[in-house]
Amino acid sequence: MNKDFNYSNLKIGIIGGGQLGKIMSQKAKKMGFFVTILDPTPNCPAAQVSDRQIIGGFHDTHKIEQLVRESDVTTFELENVETSILKKLYDGGHNIHPSPYVLELIQDKYQQKKLLDAKGIPVPAYKKILETRDLESFGFPVIQKARRGGYDGKGVLLLKTQEDISSAIEAESFIEELVDIEKELAVIVARNIEGEISCYPVVEMLFDERVNICDSVMAPARIDSEIEKKVIEIATASIKALDGVGIFGVEMFLTKSGEILVNEIAPRPHNSGHYTVESCATSQFEQIIRAVTNLPLGSTKLLSASVMVNLLGEVGYEGEPIIEGIQEALAIPCLSFHFYGKDVTKPFRKMGHVTVLDDDITVALERAMRAKDILKIKGSIKI
Ligand code: ADP
Repeated sequence: MNKDFNYSNLKIGIIGGGQLGKIMSQKAKKMGFFVTILDPTPNCPAAQVSDRQIIGGFHDTHKIEQLVRESDVTTFELENVETSILKKLYDGGHNIHPSPYVLELIQDKYQQKKLLDAKGIPVPAYKKILETRDLESFGFPVIQKARRGGYDGKGVLLLKTQEDISSAIEAESFIEELVDIEKELAVIVARNIEGEISCYPVVEMLFDERVNICDSVMAPARIDSEIEKKVIEIATASIKALDGVGIFGVEMFLTKSGEILVNEIAPRPHNSGHYTVESCATSQFEQIIRAVTNLPLGSTKLLSASVMVNLLGEVGYEGEPIIEGIQEALAIPCLSFHFYGKDVTKPFRKMGHVTVLDDDITVALERAMRAKDILKIKGSIKI
């Protein structure tokens, strides 16, 4: 691995051109770096703010190889990427962070859980499914999860009773005890090439019940300092266990009985860290650029409490996005508006977000919820 980067002429490759890649690229551009995006959609959100786009899919080994060879360091904004070619290039000395081996492990949620468990990280009880009968091992209700390919609640199924087995996930899967959740918490953790680790504040995730998508994020979480300390300890230990370089979103459950369990880890900037753009001294998006280019990590200090709300595509619309309520919403004090520039909307698609800052988190929450009610992302086609 070459760690002697020429920062005056540094080329960064990002696999994936959605909102995460877009803000990452903006931060890399702020630092003067040259950014190339690999994404199948021409003029995708990240390409709109980058130097160059290679048009190609996330399993197109030739295009992935081209990106890595053209870049001093390559990272990614999504998990669903071909690892075989990345491993070959990584083993050949190319800078790819987090390493494709870490990515491969995380791609399989069951292997991920097994590793964390083996390293003493608390996780919900889980069991691999080899045959249908295994689905009954924990009794009901129980959570079934696809081992690979799930995101935003897809690939997660609640089996309430034995009757639900007929509609169980058919792909390779595992089951998990149904956790009695008090709050869903998350921590963004950064680790650079030198092994320096830095944690962001603990945040609280609120979900859109209809589709299981994280809808809003409160920073900091409304938890006592003892729990906060424990959450940070567990998040740090999880990233040490993975041995990865980059930014990691560690999702956790705080149970009704006060236990903290790790749900899953994302090896990339995370929706629960969007608030860091306005709320923290260094955003998660600048932090990943620092981490993967062997620079010192920036301060993760919380400058102001905040609430982030995702702007999801309205149900009943698709086609070209149409924003409603922008005048009224942007009159809300200390509100920052992000719109990703996706060419089409779909129901529940993440189209943008707003972050509202206030020293009093209840004020920030009230204003963010108001913005959510006002801002509607409709589309040119009614469905
Ligand atoms: P995804 O990767 O699709 O986001 P997750 O594993 O994070 O999948 O699960 C999505 C949501 O489902 C979680 O945020 C949580 O609300 C719920 N969930 C997942 N696992 C459990 C569990 N073991 N017990 C209770 N709820 C769960």
